[in-house]
Amino acid sequence: MGTWEYKDFSLIVDYVQSDPFAPPSRCRVRVPASQAGFPADLTSSKIRTVGFCDYLSRMFWRETNDAGADAAPESQGWHGSKGGAIMMEKPGQHVLERTSVLISKGFIEARFTITLPARGRSIEGLRAAAIFGDELPPIVANSLYARSLNLDHLREHVISVEDQEHLRRVSLNKLGLVAFVANGAVLPRKSGIDDAPMDKAKAILFETPPSLAAEVKLPSGRTLTGMGIPKGIALIVGGGFHGKSTLLEALEVGVYNHVPGDGREFVATDLTGVKIRAEDGRSVTSVDISPFINNLPFQKSTKSFSTPDASGSTSQAANIIEAVQAGTKCLLVDEDTCATNFMIRDARMQELVAPDKEPITPFISRIRTMYEHMGISTILVIGGAGDYFDVADHVIMMDCYKPHDVTARAKEISKESPGNKIRRDGSDKALFDGLSFRYPKSQSVLGIQSQSKGRVSARTMERIEFGGIDIELDGVAQVIEKTQTRAIGDAMVYAANRYMNDNLTVKEVLDRVDLDIEDEGLDCISIMGPVGTLGRPRPLEIAAALNRLRGVAFKIR
Ligand code: ADP
Ligand code: MG
Repeated sequence: MGTWEYKDFSLIVDYVQSDPFAPPSRCRVRVPASQAGFPADLTSSKIRTVGFCDYLSRMFWRETNDAGADAAPESQGWHGSKGGAIMMEKPGQHVLERTSVLISKGFIEARFTITLPARGRSIEGLRAAAIFGDELPPIVANSLYARSLNLDHLREHVISVEDQEHLRRVSLNKLGLVAFVANGAVLPRKSGIDDAPMDKAKAILFETPPSLAAEVKLPSGRTLTGMGIPKGIALIVGGGFHGKSTLLEALEVGVYNHVPGDGREFVATDLTGVKIRAEDGRSVTSVDISPFINNLPFQKSTKSFSTPDASGSTSQAANIIEAVQAGTKCLLVDEDTCATNFMIRDARMQELVAPDKEPITPFISRIRTMYEHMGISTILVIGGAGDYFDVADHVIMMDCYKPHDVTARAKEISKESPGNKIRRDGSDKALFDGLSFRYPKSQSVLGIQSQSKGRVSARTMERIEFGGIDIELDGVAQVIEKTQTRAIGDAMVYAANRYMNDNLTVKEVLDRVDLDIEDEGLDCISIMGPVGTLGRPRPLEIAAALNRLRGVAFKIR
């Protein structure tokens, strides 16, 4: 461990693996910004810096990949050579604030790991010398200096990210929208396991219906036209396989910026937008689900509802209340992943099962109160339940991947055929006003974390090893990089140590954590010190993980 000076940069080794089988060694290189030679305007604001660092991460990754430096030789058994890879995690389609490349104290710093080359248990000195002496310098030279990069391309990346951020943070609000989808956007992906865009030749490009057209002017001077989804309740309807879920999925990740060429760069969603789904089997702790579920058999309370194994409807109710209390202003819901009995109850069922025997008040009966009373919009994909026409402000029909505004027709139908009686709301504001809040208990979180040697790590993008327990995030759609999963685990520990004190709500705790990250950078939450493997999550996803931690305890007020 220590610092080595190269001709043009310094190398800092923060951790040396004690053994070829141990986690890889952690390294950083620092290039003085003055020598890297980038134009100052590329890092003149926070968001530009995020775009800039994201680009450099991609370049560093590409260099290690092109040079084959990130691949270790095939294993040749115990006595054969192994290790020798220089690795930085490959960034996905989204542009995030990460710790892989960052700017700090006048340096551009890149962080990566090296698996030290070895045979058996001994490090191979000569190969190690070659990695540090011959392989690393050109990777640094080719990725962290202005003279080696295509500056036009870099600038386009930075400006696009700045435009995207502006669209989400400023334009949406100015126009009273919760989402915007630019004309020409490519929403479908290459495949279910490949997040790259579908070939432009195959994809139908997005085109707004005239009645929903909105125009935005972005900082770069670029003007875009696209579909604006106004605040309120919007339905996305249409036959099966016509592109409804594809649109909603693009909106889910519309809370993040994308790389130019992704096709979804100018698909923006309210930055607090949360995907809601049924998630049976999840753990729920002390959530007030009483606006949706009441009078459970045997008087089980729903003002502070806990279960290690929620049903479809209780999990969906908990997901909504948790998101609301974490500060969402926009729910994104796809019928495909909802509990039917949570969404609707038809006339015949109301006839057969008396209301006082039915604990569930379906979403359709609360959706307008949530908007009118609390300003929480919903975008809902629905193919099968026309009752929602009664409560919708806008109805968008997807037909062969093209959206049409069918609001007027849907409203006519809703007048002509009254459909099922919707238990009207409006009088139930009090239910939401009276929601009880949860104040996380630090000891419960730290107690779980301290088990099993206190390890906190991301097993996969959807699973955090948190001390003695695994947190499952399969139902949390808006964690989109493993870097975020790691940061979420670390942030929970940070939050427990710093801010959980029985007197701050989940939202108050996580807003403070987010402010610290904003002021000090992601390193502030890192358990392992300076690592290159963290990506910034939203407070909403940290809340989602905390809410799914089995054994977490809250004070309720
Ligand atoms: P729905 O939810 O309406 O049943 P999906 O959104 O699941 O439909 O889309 C069905 C299929 O159509 C998917 O395989 C998807 O990749 C493809 N698809 C969606 N949108 C487009 C588009 N704009 N152009 C080409 N293919 C698309
Ligand atoms: Mg679908």
